[in-house]
Amino acid sequence: MYPRISWPNNKKFAFTIFDDTDRANLKDIQLVYEYLDKLGFKTTKSVWITKGNRPHESSGVTCDDKKYLDWLLGLKNKGFEIGYHNTTYHSSYREEIKEGLKQFVKMFNQNPNVMANHSANQENIYWGSHRLSGSRRVIYNILTRYKKNRFYKGHDDSSPYFWGDLCKEYVTYVRNFVFSDINTLKCCPYMPYQDPEKPYVNYWFASSEGHNVNVFNKCLSNKNQDQLEEEGGACIMYTHFADGFCKNGKLSEQFKIQMERLSKKNGWFVPLSTLLEFLKKENKTQIISNSQRRALEWKWLFDKLILGST
Ligand SMILES: [Zn+2]
Repeated sequence: MYPRISWPNNKKFAFTIFDDTDRANLKDIQLVYEYLDKLGFKTTKSVWITKGNRPHESSGVTCDDKKYLDWLLGLKNKGFEIGYHNTTYHSSYREEIKEGLKQFVKMFNQNPNVMANHSANQENIYWGSHRLSGSRRVIYNILTRYKKNRFYKGHDDSSPYFWGDLCKEYVTYVRNFVFSDINTLKCCPYMPYQDPEKPYVNYWFASSEGHNVNVFNKCLSNKNQDQLEEEGGACIMYTHFADGFCKNGKLSEQFKIQMERLSKKNGWFVPLSTLLEFLKKENKTQIISNSQRRALEWKWLFDKLILGST
């Protein structure tokens, strides 16, 4: 069972979004955020600090782009939150990460409170099979042929990609598990939690699966919205707003319909770290126990194998 929360201002549930910045371009992303703002949603947009300078598979606009940065600062002024998605779209070494974090603070006048690892990057912290422990890690390693066991090094202090100490210094909340259920809090009632096995991360949070427009809209179906409200839960939707939400200068009609319906409900629509700060105060047991960790990992592994959650 998960605890029934008394949300601030008599709100019935909470809803926020973590937008992974992959593939974003300024023009399209502006349309998405104008719409969110119009409906009263204040959510979290992640950024890359600098342009890459090595070969890479993924890309997207970065804070090196002056127009984009100005727009981000305006977004922050409106009450949205700026989160962190590593230094850039390819792996960065410790010194580059350190420089990037300093730049983030300089640009946004605050630490990057919330972050998610970018799956292509080797400096990812506790990523790949390191997300799991015990037999879950063994299963995951066998399924991925140990590839994801060796690749990710952000927590390994013998690696040039190590930045665990900097993560602890700069970042408060890091994302781990993503579930298919709209009610993230029901799937992970402990969040934000500390995991003694992962000491370089201050607190972990989970998310609900909405990685592109179709999955997002499905997760936000009328039935699921009503469920979230009835359960008095919290949804942290994880998405890429560059993936299908805007086509030829137009927003997805279904996205507009689902968001407008949600906006009329009595929900608490705040940025991710505002929600997590609130939950941290509500949550009496912040350090996850072995049995809680086990349950969470099995649940995610099941979701991942059956439903393909990230
Ligand atoms: Zn990414």
